Amino acid sequence: MSRLDSFCRRLQAQRACLDFACAAIAGRAGPVFELGLGNGRTYDHLRDRLADPGERWPIYVFERKVVAHPGCIPSEERLYLGDFRRTLPKAAADFPRRAVLVHADMGSGDAAANAELAAFVSQALPPSLAPGALVLSDQRLDLPGAEALALPHGVPEGRYHLYRAST
Ligand code: SAM
Repeated sequence: MSRLDSFCRRLQAQRACLDFACAAIAGRAGPVFELGLGNGRTYDHLRDRLADPGERWPIYVFERKVVAHPGCIPSEERLYLGDFRRTLPKAAADFPRRAVLVHADMGSGDAAANAELAAFVSQALPPSLAPGALVLSDQRLDLPGAEALALPHGVPEGRYHLYRAST
């Protein structure tokens, strides 16, 4: 498989997971957290899929340095600027047990740093999660009390990770 094929498959899997999660929260309202703005592609996708005049799913973005496409930068009120280690505890205080969906796309090429960050996120996220919230992540997480769910049809195991918080 060429690197282009592999890149396309990764993005298709990511989109399939995001679409699955957005459809799954259709019946419930609450904040959505996007961890890792990057270029803003997945933020823009969530914004598109969760567009709602009633603003049932306000999207809050977590990013240490905003370098996204100019059309994909959240408003100041919806941006937690800084390292997750500082901003996730603040979000938990702002939204205790409220987030209905979290998408974490935070990995880099450094496996050790990814593992360390995933461990931190695993313990910092639960206080923000509404009962039964969905968590979608590019990194394997160890969320206390959450169950791992099967990925949408066609997404190879291990490419993404999907969890449901305890109810
Ligand atoms: N989802 C994005 C997109 O579609 O364009 C790509 C996200 S990129 C893979 C990961 C992002 O996570 C980077 O922008 C990086 O700055 C951010 N990030 C990684 N570790 C972080 C941390 N500890 N605190 C805050 N942001 C972090």
